[in-house]
Amino acid sequence: MATNSRSEKYVYLFGNKKADGDGSMKPLLGGKGANLAEMTRIGLPVPPGFTITTEVCTYYYDNKRTYPRELDAQVKSGVAFLEKALDKKFGDMQKPLLVSVRSGARDSMPGMMDTILNLGLNDKTVNALAAYSNNERFAWDCYRRFVQMYGDVVMGVHKAAGEDDEPFEVVIHSIKHDRYRKEIEDTELTVNDLQELVLRFKALIMKRTGKEFPQDPWKQLWGAVGAVFGSWMNDRAMVYRRKYNIPSEWGTAVNVQAMVYGNTGDNSGSGVAFTRDPASGEKVFYGEFLINAQGEDVVAGIRTPEPVAQLVKHMPAAFHELERIRQVLERHFKDVQDFEFTIEEGKVFMLQTRNGKRTGLAAVRFAIEMEKEKLIDWKTAIRRVPADQLDQVLAPVFDRKAVKEAKCIAKGLPAGPGAASGKMYLNAERAVEAAAKGEKVLLVRNETSPEDLRGMIAAEGILTAKGGVSSHAALVARQMGKVCVCGASALQIDYSAKTMAVNGSTYQEGDSISIDGTVGEVYPGNLETAASEIVQVLVEKSLKPQQSAVYQNFAKLMDWCGKATRMQVRTNADTPEQTANAVAFGASGIGLCRTEHMFFEGQRIDAMREMILAEKIEDRKKALAKLLPYQRDDFAGIFKELKGLPATIRFLDPPLHEFLPHDHAAQAQLAEKLGVSVEKITKRVHELHEFNPMLGFRGCRLGLVHSEISEMQARAVFEAAADVQKQGIKVKPEIMIPLVGFKKELDLQVEVVHRVAKEVMAEKKVKLSYLVGTMIEVPRGALTADEIAQTAEFFSFGTNDLTQTALGMSRDDSGSFLPAYAEMEIIKKNPFASIDQTGVGQLMQIAVTKGQSIRPDIKLGICGEHGGDPESVKFCHRIGLSYVSCSPFRVPVARLAAAQAALEEEAGAVKRNGQVKKVGTARKLSKGKGRLVRA
Ligand code: PEP
Ligand code: MG
Repeated sequence: MATNSRSEKYVYLFGNKKADGDGSMKPLLGGKGANLAEMTRIGLPVPPGFTITTEVCTYYYDNKRTYPRELDAQVKSGVAFLEKALDKKFGDMQKPLLVSVRSGARDSMPGMMDTILNLGLNDKTVNALAAYSNNERFAWDCYRRFVQMYGDVVMGVHKAAGEDDEPFEVVIHSIKHDRYRKEIEDTELTVNDLQELVLRFKALIMKRTGKEFPQDPWKQLWGAVGAVFGSWMNDRAMVYRRKYNIPSEWGTAVNVQAMVYGNTGDNSGSGVAFTRDPASGEKVFYGEFLINAQGEDVVAGIRTPEPVAQLVKHMPAAFHELERIRQVLERHFKDVQDFEFTIEEGKVFMLQTRNGKRTGLAAVRFAIEMEKEKLIDWKTAIRRVPADQLDQVLAPVFDRKAVKEAKCIAKGLPAGPGAASGKMYLNAERAVEAAAKGEKVLLVRNETSPEDLRGMIAAEGILTAKGGVSSHAALVARQMGKVCVCGASALQIDYSAKTMAVNGSTYQEGDSISIDGTVGEVYPGNLETAASEIVQVLVEKSLKPQQSAVYQNFAKLMDWCGKATRMQVRTNADTPEQTANAVAFGASGIGLCRTEHMFFEGQRIDAMREMILAEKIEDRKKALAKLLPYQRDDFAGIFKELKGLPATIRFLDPPLHEFLPHDHAAQAQLAEKLGVSVEKITKRVHELHEFNPMLGFRGCRLGLVHSEISEMQARAVFEAAADVQKQGIKVKPEIMIPLVGFKKELDLQVEVVHRVAKEVMAEKKVKLSYLVGTMIEVPRGALTADEIAQTAEFFSFGTNDLTQTALGMSRDDSGSFLPAYAEMEIIKKNPFASIDQTGVGQLMQIAVTKGQSIRPDIKLGICGEHGGDPESVKFCHRIGLSYVSCSPFRVPVARLAAAQAALEEEAGAVKRNGQVKKVGTARKLSKGKGRLVRA
């Protein structure tokens, strides 16, 4: 079937059970093209077509929007292939071949790029189609659709700034009102109406562009191909790629496929379906269809479709065929598929299949149930759940009591699960503005379109009055993990009045509403939310494990993760409660206890301030003595919760002025409490002021200049450890010195720690096992890690500061320019959220190598915010860290990412060596040894 054997192959054919490509060729053929080829190969009913490769897209942008020389001839043979397969001719006056032209990137980008259907029609071929199909209405319906799509996509007739409705839709609306004086279904438009519509559409195109709608099918085809390639760089596609980190170099393919028609009458239709429910994960045939419609009508959300189960009533044979295809797809692709189909005169055709986007809840359920059904093994199950989606399973739901008491004002389709409340906005830009001001917003629209993407990103949830569960709003919301209710048809949205009316009540833009995307309900006001079932079982203990299937699936997944992982997951926690939560989620210890957080409560802050304000060492010691019991109690509480798991406790780190009051009233209040003059306080605050506090008197510098602070902290740790150990509970303190760049800094602090440990052990008559290590969070620390490792028993990468100091970007101020950096694609991801692997990552790698060169079993961890980011977790695995540490509710996400990293390593090893290495032994676990201190 090769189209051209001598030169580069740019066009791949599929049809009649044969295909040039296959499902593995997504980078070259895009997801749609590769899977059309694959479905053709496995004998599914796919209309014939051809795919123009993504390489052409790259060429197009590298060569001033031109095509490779060979392309013209290859496209011509592609069209000839279709003509032969169908016994039709492109532009023919008897049996005209019509095609669809669709985009298809490597990863699906729903609705972001362009599609053109019914291409090949013109003023003459429309009559040929009418005669050939013996269906005049159908032919004119195709033509008016084509003119609209072509006008929009290729000729650029879009809504202008300030317009809320698409101009072509306005024309359709006006014809209905001119001729019928009411809203009627599109399917009720007569041949004459459709002919008039084509005339008005052409006039609209001429008015807006000054150009005629082209009549030559070849001109139409090249226009459409160019528009699809062009749409790769449209604003919404670029926004989408940035959000999902899709490189712009990938490009899109173009699929040209013979048309099949869902709009020939009541024996035809179009639909979108999933092999299982992508919202809840239930194993049911899920989806929707419209009778007498083309595919675009289903996703556009203009008519509300019927659930696919209803199809059995209208067209039983087609329904059973789809059921069969559903089974074939899952057995072949071994994953839940999201597919598009058309029924033409009772016969089913497949137009697309891809792995279905799913909610976190569904992802977990699919993985667990497919393993049970032996479609996949447990390792594949782990890799199937996107780690950051696990967050959604832990997301709050509405409080059941609050829901009972609230009045549901409208019902729609449950399209994205979870609970969201906020102020409603009817327009994406205003929603973005309000969210930027810190408001929680809900985007409320009749239906959404890709232009609304920024508003959807900014919103807590999305509510639409029209459209089904596979409408744009639903697809995008699910992927983003946003709460979504769509097709709530009782809502009357008035864009110009900025109101939403329902059952006699009117809500203004800015009013609060709540939506429940799990059941599809809308409520006025802000409803109380409640914890997810998993949190209810593990943290609140208000639900029993056996009462929650959601919990049981989660627990099984976490069990598997435990089996697969090499790297441990610890938590950043400063209180016994946070510690308990994290341990419940499977944390294997504390990776960072920020002791300064303990100084902010109640009377502690007064003692802290007294300590900071002290001018003489005796006064400082007095204040520290007041802080000691608080710290000791906190540490004891944490040790008890940990029950023998390790706790990395970091000594005081932030600049001291952070603890002082900065406004006059608060300073006066403090002066009164401490019995000193306001002037004294103001003067001290002034003295402590720093131009660049992040690079100032902070970190180990505090304990070095005022060693009594470190002494007090060491004493609190060891006294608590001794007390708890005496109660028969194991303790494993790991004392961590922050912001070390010189070995000597660490040496001096370690001396203090060992001295105090010795004293406490003698006083309490116990032996304590502990470690002392450091954070690696300034470049000098990383670069001299071999020297530092002579003293440090462990390293923990403080990647918040390491990013700040390596990039020279303030972690607190980077918000003002990072969005611009993302826009200019200088950075792909926020480096404070996901490790800058090429820059900061190198420093980490150097520190690991140098540290291990001196102390091969050095314990290595990370405790910056990156410890909860899946990509960063995987990076940490690859460079051989022993653990990552993250916030308690992020622990499951990090556990999943750590397990996936181990499995990816194993898969890589299999690819390289052809044999499996045992997971968990891939890299030797570097365990820091507890050391019995010289008493
Ligand atoms: C870090 O710098 O990464 C870190 C964990 O410390 P902090 O955020 O407290 O500065
Ligand atoms: Mg830090």
